[in-house]
Amino acid sequence: MKVLVSEVGPRDGLQSISTIMPTEAKKRWITALADAGVQEIEVGSFVPAKLLPQLGDTAELVAHARRIPGLTVAVLVPNMKGAEAAVAAGAHKLTIPVSCSETHSLRNVRRSHAQMLDEARCISELIRTLPAAQRPHFEGGLSTAFGCTLEGAVPERRVVELAEALIACGCDEVGLSDTSGYADPAQVRRLLRAVWGAVGRDRLTGLHLHNTRGLGLANALAALDLGISTLDASQGGLGGCPFAPGASGNIVTEDLVFMLQAMGFETGIDFQSLLAARALLAAALPNEPLYGMVPLAGLPLNFEPTS
Ligand code: ZN
Repeated sequence: MKVLVSEVGPRDGLQSISTIMPTEAKKRWITALADAGVQEIEVGSFVPAKLLPQLGDTAELVAHARRIPGLTVAVLVPNMKGAEAAVAAGAHKLTIPVSCSETHSLRNVRRSHAQMLDEARCISELIRTLPAAQRPHFEGGLSTAFGCTLEGAVPERRVVELAEALIACGCDEVGLSDTSGYADPAQVRRLLRAVWGAVGRDRLTGLHLHNTRGLGLANALAALDLGISTLDASQGGLGGCPFAPGASGNIVTEDLVFMLQAMGFETGIDFQSLLAARALLAAALPNEPLYGMVPLAGLPLNFEPTS
């Protein structure tokens, strides 16, 4: 079975650190990730550069990444203005982050649930004005779906209702994000089943997990067992959310790829080439800690990866 590992380091990782990675270094990193076989990369977010100067070069990165054959170029768009910029740049996939916690939504994008649903509706209308072949895939990313550092527990019913609302607004699919690293494997199973029951399995294929409390790979495994086919991860576990205090660290791409390959899933990724991309990242961000167990320990002797 194939699993798509969607690399979110250039967006989720870099937005959480104060160091601004030079654009040329980002391009080299993105190219190296693609060379390693990564098939989808979230290269940035179309937010005002004064809010997130780390991601101010997103349009240039989309243009760069679009030239890499076979790569799906994904971006985050917090609003209609961002979506217009993403469409103009030619991104293949747009994700609007809709926080299940309204407190977090107001803090993160300064909009209520009703306002975010309006944005999603306007963006899907914009996409539908494009010729069919040029329409980007449009995802509603349900952040803080498993809990929020500002509100605590998030009722599952609210997540399900927002998923239904986003599909009704014209999203092609929804994704679930554990922004705060609160999820546990039983909750992952419960919430996937609940959302699938409401919108159908083909409308939710991906999960965005953080390893804040060490349960990232356990949560990924729970989702894989139920048939999730896309997992976000960031190289070196870079990541977090500057507006959700205490949320840090996506699941580590290298460790996830190792687990998938050891279990016989096809990722299309070459582990040694992934380490070469990690070396570029480490060189570009010498003062940022990089995480991951497998890069430290190395692959097991005579490890035979599935490709
Ligand atoms: Zn995240």
